[in-house]
Amino acid sequence: HRTTFAGPSPVWHPFTQHALAPEPPLVLRGEGAWLTTATGERILDAISSWWVITHGHCHPRIVAAIRDQAGELDQVIFAGHTHLAAEALARRLVALAPAGLAHVFFSDSGSTAVEVALKMAVGYWRNIAEPRSRILALEHGYHGDTIGTMSAGARGIYNAAYEPLLFDVTRLPFPAQGREEATLTALEAACREAPCAALLVEPLILGAGGMLVYPAWVLAEMRSICDRHGVLLIADEVMTGFGRTGRLFACEHASVMPDILCCAKGLTGGALPLAVTLCRREIFDAHYSEDRRRTFFHSSSFTANPIACAAANANLDIWDEEPVAERIAALGALQEERLARFHDDARFASMRRLGTVAALDLAVDDPGYLAGIGLELAAFFRERGLLLRPLGNTIYVMPPYCVTAGDLDRVYAAIAAAAEHFGR
Ligand code: PMP
Repeated sequence: HRTTFAGPSPVWHPFTQHALAPEPPLVLRGEGAWLTTATGERILDAISSWWVITHGHCHPRIVAAIRDQAGELDQVIFAGHTHLAAEALARRLVALAPAGLAHVFFSDSGSTAVEVALKMAVGYWRNIAEPRSRILALEHGYHGDTIGTMSAGARGIYNAAYEPLLFDVTRLPFPAQGREEATLTALEAACREAPCAALLVEPLILGAGGMLVYPAWVLAEMRSICDRHGVLLIADEVMTGFGRTGRLFACEHASVMPDILCCAKGLTGGALPLAVTLCRREIFDAHYSEDRRRTFFHSSSFTANPIACAAANANLDIWDEEPVAERIAALGALQEERLARFHDDARFASMRRLGTVAALDLAVDDPGYLAGIGLELAAFFRERGLLLRPLGNTIYVMPPYCVTAGDLDRVYAAIAAAAEHFGR
């Protein structure tokens, strides 16, 4: 392969501002928690390449499954057809997910998984002749960058330009520590005020909103309130799914069964784009009728792509056959121990951890999100051979589960250096 090219690159990168972005590293290889660039530099992937890589880059089992499937069946239309990889995967997911989720709809990104969930919820109410379209969501939520998921997510500078296209969503206050009741009271009030179709939440960790953590009992309470008012609960486990929070799904911490569950990112171990939206039988049934006039009007060309499904099956094989749960528990303990070293450090305003995910808020005067300190911090870490992309002043560490204690030490040493350099 060529590693040098003439002239400026025509590639339009997401979330890059020229002034603050150094030349992007040309990444040639990935192995475990590490990336290798064309200049031979090694970069520690401390955010699992946008939260997708779970067992490490290029896990041999996933690579082999992709190779095998690519030589057998690359792609087949999924309308009116099916294939082995999807059939096996759907059955396995239904067995692993909270009981009661009986059907699996395939798509190809986290945004689409959530978009599909919103359409399923609104479609359900319409089909049972009790139309409801009001959506509830949490303040600081992030659910994707399509029009529907931007509508449901927090409004900020990154979607302000599209405000005229976004629909109204009722936002509940984030269940911050000590203010959990405010969220539940607001949910109860919203449900009483007018019929609501669904409550959409990231269970236990709000990712892009700043790695904000809330307790499992709040999720359980939200479930009860939804039950009392017949409101569907949609769990967006696009980030939290497949072990990040210490359990396969974050909902397990609260023993909550959502009506609709969205997964993507770690579903394939991070190797290929694939998403699923699981739902309860009633929601599926409502979309079909004897007279065949109803269906679920959603499709995409690559839905249930066989190669991606094979990668997801290999991911589940790894969960079955390797000590993944132990690895996750050990990583959680390592993260906790590293965080504890900063507990009395006034340069950090606050810190938190759930499962394998740790976050520290640097005490700075300007915690600005995009234009602010986040990109400067990313460049600082980049110079030290680390892939970390803080959200404003929130530095979070979300490595693949194969990361070593020594690797983590490098990460936290750089975080200490960043606090020295940028902290107040
Ligand atoms: N939901 C959550 C909770 C996410 O963290 C993300 C991605 N960061 C998405 C949805 C959107 O997923 P994707 O980027 O694959 O569209």
